[in-house]
Amino acid sequence: MTLFEKIIAREIPADIVYEDDLVIAFNDINPKAPTHVLIIPKKPITRIAEAEPEDHQVLGHLLLKAREVAGELGLHEKGFRLVFNNGADAGETVPHLHLHILGGREMTWPPG
Ligand code: AMP
Repeated sequence: MTLFEKIIAREIPADIVYEDDLVIAFNDINPKAPTHVLIIPKKPITRIAEAEPEDHQVLGHLLLKAREVAGELGLHEKGFRLVFNNGADAGETVPHLHLHILGGREMTWPPG
């Protein structure tokens, strides 16, 4: 069971900011911006590269809820960044799909 499945199962604590039947969002334990939330599907999709056509509904829901959470956190006006780290080169550390919602400061591009 991955770390994020344990958070879904309430086996380890997290600062949950949104939850429904398909997704859960919680504050990142090591924030890289003033606002840093992770939103994840409850279905254990390993990473975006492993997603299947049958996941289109949960992935669409994940994106629309990321939009909603960002709005509730006051990020719509000044902007925010959504990031999927996929695989070793991208710095993925937890093999359960997670979308980073980052905001509250100006971001640079390209990412490091
Ligand atoms: P990634 O590097 O894209 O795989 O992102 C994994 C993220 O999970 C990192 O930003 C970590 O800070 C975060 N993280 C690790 N453990 C926890 C935890 N127990 N609660 C919340 N976030 C966590």
